[in-house]
Amino acid sequence: MQEKLHLTQHPGLNPPSFNTIIQNISDEGLFLKETYCYPRGGGQPGDRGSITSKSGVSKMNEVLSGEYILHPVENISLFNEGEEVTCQIDSNWRNRNSKMHTAQHVFSALANELYGAETVGNQISESYTRIDLWFPDRDKFNPQEIVEEVNASLRSGSDVLIHEWSREKILSHENMRHTKFMDRIPPSITNLRVVEIKGIDLCPCAGTHVGNTKQVDEISIENVKSKGSGKLRITYI
Ligand SMILES: [Zn+2]
Repeated sequence: MQEKLHLTQHPGLNPPSFNTIIQNISDEGLFLKETYCYPRGGGQPGDRGSITSKSGVSKMNEVLSGEYILHPVENISLFNEGEEVTCQIDSNWRNRNSKMHTAQHVFSALANELYGAETVGNQISESYTRIDLWFPDRDKFNPQEIVEEVNASLRSGSDVLIHEWSREKILSHENMRHTKFMDRIPPSITNLRVVEIKGIDLCPCAGTHVGNTKQVDEISIENVKSKGSGKLRITYI
């Protein structure tokens, strides 16, 4: 598995350009020796931007996950294996996704605290985020209440910190959320990245985040719909 260097950059805002070597080229795009691009996953869209070689510059479409991270490019004829290229991640796109993703942590944490709800799915889209929540009693869900609580938490100016903790420390921490998926991570990975939003949330996560909740705009709920027994799908902007 190729190392995901975006994990080493926090806050995940305004990512700098980086130079690297093209290791392989397929019909779908480029495989780079190393990459700081966030590949699509965990409900967060992949980075996009541009890649420049000595022959010119090509648009880079959404970066995708896999054994090796794939960088789809619009004009593949500009590139040759083994040559050095410069990759520029689209900062507006990344910043927006880092903000939306951080807001999702706050929303999920407060839904858990207020209603005992568990986040069972989430997806950040072009202009909105949707979260699927499972509730012990979904009639208790109050959209106005959670919006006010989320926005108050965002305004509170909580720092977002990154930790590298062992599985044991993560699983035994009393405030840790969202650990069920850890079964799916190979046992060879002994330390995991933990995201802490001071006083609000603590959970393992490989996404990109802002440095302080004040950097996230306030949210408002667009739609709430039933997704079957005990579940609601909430869409907010
Ligand atoms: Zn996260």
